[in-house]
Amino acid sequence: MHLHSIVAGQPVESTATIAVINPYNGAQVGTVTTARLHHVHAAIEAALSRRDSLTRFQRHQILERARAALELRRDEVARLITSEAGLCIRETLYEVGRACDVLRFAAMEALRDDGQIFSCDVSPQGKARKIFTVREPLSCAAAITPFNHPLNQVAHKLAPAIAAGTPVILKPSEKTPLTALTLASILFEAGLPPHMLSVLLGPTTEVAETLVRDPRIELISFTGSVPVGKRIASAAGYKKIVLELGGNDPLIVLEDADMELAVFLAAEGSFRNSGQRCTAIKRILVHEKIAEEFTRRLVEKTREYKSGDPADPETKVGTVIDEASAISLETVIREAEAAGARILIGGKRRGALLEPTVLSNVPRDCGMVVSESFGPLAPIITVRDLNDAVTVANSTAYGLSSGVVTSSLDSAIQAVKQLRCGSVNINEVPGFRIESSPFGGIKDSGLGIKEGVVEAIKCFTTVKTFSLPW
Ligand code: NAP
Repeated sequence: MHLHSIVAGQPVESTATIAVINPYNGAQVGTVTTARLHHVHAAIEAALSRRDSLTRFQRHQILERARAALELRRDEVARLITSEAGLCIRETLYEVGRACDVLRFAAMEALRDDGQIFSCDVSPQGKARKIFTVREPLSCAAAITPFNHPLNQVAHKLAPAIAAGTPVILKPSEKTPLTALTLASILFEAGLPPHMLSVLLGPTTEVAETLVRDPRIELISFTGSVPVGKRIASAAGYKKIVLELGGNDPLIVLEDADMELAVFLAAEGSFRNSGQRCTAIKRILVHEKIAEEFTRRLVEKTREYKSGDPADPETKVGTVIDEASAISLETVIREAEAAGARILIGGKRRGALLEPTVLSNVPRDCGMVVSESFGPLAPIITVRDLNDAVTVANSTAYGLSSGVVTSSLDSAIQAVKQLRCGSVNINEVPGFRIESSPFGGIKDSGLGIKEGVVEAIKCFTTVKTFSLPW
């Protein structure tokens, strides 16, 4: 497969390319032509060139047609994600379904009027007027996306931008560009006007950093790691920024938890998507009275998470993104072992394939649980009670999401109030959401809720008010 970077609907003709490698078998999946500095400027100028806007119905139709086309190509797109990201096919089929939801919900939102009306004769200082609000598209936005959900992360930027009527320049991860470019071609085939979308791959300093600094771009919407997010925050200057960064989410399992549910959620939350979800469970905080039984049953459950060839429908855990990532996870495991942790199952690596790994006796201050470990690891830490669990949960720099397994409403309410993060899911994995609900982290995980289709559309617009005598 040979694809091109795109400037306003047109392929970038260039001899410079990047190769995309299948993390499982090392085969070349495809190549992509890369853009240079002048392509970035051409993309910005194209986005700024048109002031005529699509009607709400036109935006709705483009998004709906794209959803229908993606649904028809579900198997093909899932296989493409599997080949460039190493995620197993059961995960990538699920991801295509999620991206269809993003397009569906954005299409619905495109039809919804988002204006408000304020009567002004409501105070002694007021008078008989009304203030109306309208949301207007930005002149140009840039979106920068990570590798871990190659389709869904991109859909979560492009669909709200289209629903809002904002032209967008996308810089997808260079590890997974083929899926992003395929979604772009589906959108163009669905009727998206060329000036509404460019997709640029290329050297970071020429492409991504130029987009971040350019004053003509009104919004940088970034999803990715904490260090890159903070770098963008300091380089972007005077513009809106949306930062959706790393996570280190806890699953808290209390003494009164439904044990079967807790074990199921721990395994699903730790191992789905090869543990490469920003909201994957990164720390399992278990009440000391039930820790022994929970640990034994989680080890048993983990045997069901067979790792192997991502293209095999029987495989439950594919590779991580590349061998270098698997090696660094292996190092994190060895460091935890040296600090006193015990590997109960897994821990072995073959190329980019790392077995789902359960560890007990994990010290509260070891690197594996203080920082984000982006892979299929399930470190268990025992806690004395909910207060202790909340202290451990809140002790890292991150604050994305969390899960709590309990049968007590009082404990659930205490957890919702005291956990310092963007979401708390009771009797669910931290990653639970629907694509339209508000989503985002605090502290190092991001600048608060700014994603989910409804919130994202607000970011891709500005509010104007006008008032009339009434
Ligand atoms: P990353 O290394 O931060 O890269 C993300 C994107 O930023 C890529 O497109 C990358 O381009 C680009 N980039 C790199 N350096 C840049 C710079 N100096 N200026 C502007 N852009 C730059 O993240 P990743 O490893 O792909 O993704 C994994 C991370 O994303 C994890 O930490 C995960 O938790 C986080 N994540 C967060 C959320 C959330 O919603 N909070 C969701 C998913 C993932 P290249 O590919 O060309 O380097």
